[in-house]
Amino acid sequence: MFENIYQDYLLVKNEENRKARYDGNEGWYHASGAGLCSRKLYFESVEKAQPTNPPNKSSMRKMRVGTILHEDIQNSLILYNNIYNNNILQDNIKHDISQNNITQEYNVKFDVEGEIRLPSLNVRGFYDVVSKDFSADKDAPKVKLYDIKTTANFSFARKFSSKLSSPQENRNHYLQLGTYGLGLREKYGDIDQMSVIYYNKDNSTMREVVVPNMFIDEAKRYWYSINEEHSRGLPGFNFGTSPANAWICGYCQFKSRCNPPPKF
Ligand code: SF4
Repeated sequence: MFENIYQDYLLVKNEENRKARYDGNEGWYHASGAGLCSRKLYFESVEKAQPTNPPNKSSMRKMRVGTILHEDIQNSLILYNNIYNNNILQDNIKHDISQNNITQEYNVKFDVEGEIRLPSLNVRGFYDVVSKDFSADKDAPKVKLYDIKTTANFSFARKFSSKLSSPQENRNHYLQLGTYGLGLREKYGDIDQMSVIYYNKDNSTMREVVVPNMFIDEAKRYWYSINEEHSRGLPGFNFGTSPANAWICGYCQFKSRCNPPPKF
């Protein structure tokens, strides 16, 4: 009973999220799809097809855990802003929170969950966090962009193992971040630093990976090549781009429509 009731709740939450973020914007590429599969991007944003393989119950619950953790971390930054940057709560509430001395001051202002649009590349998406760090210079803050990723123990361990990780392993995460960086350049000028904050769902370890800024230009090249490829129609199967890795097909919402070869 509980599983079914929770499932119905998740369907409602997903529909709310779809309406808020994507309704009327179906023709844009999703920044979060960077580097995963060119065919999938084509089905999603060029054909605007309905998913043939929506996530199963267990996958939906896993995704929900990620969403909740995102919201929680972002809420902690909003609370920090309320205490030190005086931008949301009323004075009396701010005062009470400050007296409790619940967090340390870092000379940083946070902006969470903002939209970026890149019309010339037909890409839009939502970054997790931008911080303006005034600790070195109060007139010229360092602008840092962060993406939060929740991950299971196995893939978390791979990311931080020099033996197990491969250069391609996190390329999609870095291209996604680079896409947000590209969108934010217009607003902030150059981005000083980009990072992924990985959260291990199995043991709650958090680690930051600084991502080279060259991924901003990589992301520009990537989306340019996607537009070029799609102008010629549905891309063929090509390991490395369609899809980037075999595991992606296992989670793909267009798998039946796509019908990938068995080795995928
Ligand atoms: S099934 Fe695989 S190859 Fe086909 S669209 Fe999905 S991820 Fe790409």
